[in-house]
Amino acid sequence: MLRVAVVGSGPSGCYTAQGLVERDASVRVDVIDRLPCPYGLVRYGVAPDHEKIKSLQNNLRSVLEHERVRFLGGVRVGGPGGLPAARLRELYHAVVYCVGAATDRRLGIPGEDLTGSWSATEFVSWYSAHPDAVDAGFLRDADSAVVVGVGNVAVDVTRMLARGATELSPTDLPAAALTALSASRVTEIHMVGRRGPSQARFTTKELRELGALPGTEVVVDPEELALDPACADPAALPAAQRRNVEVLRAWAEAPPKGAARRIRLRFFLRPVELLGAAGGRVAAVRFERTAPDGRGGVTGTGRYEDVPARLVLRSVGYRGTPLDGLPFDDATGTVPHREGRVLRDGEVASGEYVAGWIKRGPTGVIGTNRPCAKETVASLLADAPALVREPVPGDVLAALRAEGVEPVLWAGWLAIERAEAELGAALGRSVVKLPDWESLRAAARTAGA
Ligand code: NAP
Repeated sequence: MLRVAVVGSGPSGCYTAQGLVERDASVRVDVIDRLPCPYGLVRYGVAPDHEKIKSLQNNLRSVLEHERVRFLGGVRVGGPGGLPAARLRELYHAVVYCVGAATDRRLGIPGEDLTGSWSATEFVSWYSAHPDAVDAGFLRDADSAVVVGVGNVAVDVTRMLARGATELSPTDLPAAALTALSASRVTEIHMVGRRGPSQARFTTKELRELGALPGTEVVVDPEELALDPACADPAALPAAQRRNVEVLRAWAEAPPKGAARRIRLRFFLRPVELLGAAGGRVAAVRFERTAPDGRGGVTGTGRYEDVPARLVLRSVGYRGTPLDGLPFDDATGTVPHREGRVLRDGEVASGEYVAGWIKRGPTGVIGTNRPCAKETVASLLADAPALVREPVPGDVLAALRAEGVEPVLWAGWLAIERAEAELGAALGRSVVKLPDWESLRAAARTAGA
């Protein structure tokens, strides 16, 4: 019997576990997560109003409920107080790290850390009820917001800023975030790309949603579109970019609607500094106007524009973080690997694997993790005849408990789910997420009661 630990219960971890048990009837998998809750970014990253994508949890659930898969929540691997990676390796024939990209990329410009300037990750974690999130008073005194970046995360946070209480209350938003977002006075949201419209990273489906928000209009400056040569004749663009440009052109040509809220999509503006007001809070973002360089990049023009904002969300991509005891390539924010096998000093490390964003970087949609996991599973199963000969403890739970680790089992997670349904019912809503460690742990404990 081959025993495998998968670290991380997001899409890549679940797809890896699924691939292993489906391809080999002699594999048992423990899916370990530092949180007592499974599903990774599907629970803590997908926007609450994206119910259809969230429903992917049902597919991931069936993996975690497979008879040869076990969920071990609340187990931290690496870091202070965590189970060392080397010890985990001793407990299993193989370990697959599917830990994602835990942090955000930095802009590296002055004023980035002013009050009122946050990474999109911090904002997303707050409205997703991540237990490590802080309620930073994101919307306090803000009537104008700048979102830096034009990827799908930027679209998510822009849309959440523009949604009203009626649309938000049916979601699983935690109570404090629902109250704050419902009371928001933000009426101007500037979403800003440093390159042109044809180089934006958002997908057309997500872009179009911005145009369908009640009480909100999308404003696109035709002069900024005209700066991008590809916008004049989008026919030569790849389909995804062409569709984006068509949507943007239609908005640029539409007459103003006089809606209560505006989303201003801006292009060819590179952030150079966040400007503070008295008291240290951000007051504006200074951008340098850029121009296409003909090779897909941009150059500065020496002309600047200040966009007023008391809330700045930096949405310029995620970044992997090093995990104690695993090699790490600082340049790419990933673990070096060959077809999913971890490389230490260029050599394959026996029994250690990666899949998902920590393997290939923070790109692609949820489904991209399937082929990525498949490759890693194929490598692991090819190595299995040698790995399975290693002695491992028969009872991993007992071994973990001897290390002082008390995992939250699947029954504990189901108890959290029940508590979230009960909280929702008490608030007259559907499911409402528990937002902190204490309430999650307390709910999980009721499983044993
Ligand atoms: P992303 O797609 O990589 O977009 C990052 C954006 O930040 C780009 O517009 C990039 O511009 C910009 N940027 C990077 N560095 C910058 C800088 N120093 N100054 C100004 N702008 C900068 O990242 P993401 O939005 O975080 O998304 C991560 C992944 O998750 C993507 O694959 C995305 O599709 C996926 N996702 C999907 C969904 C969905 O399907 N609904 C939702 C959320 C996320 P350049 O292009 O010029 O570098």
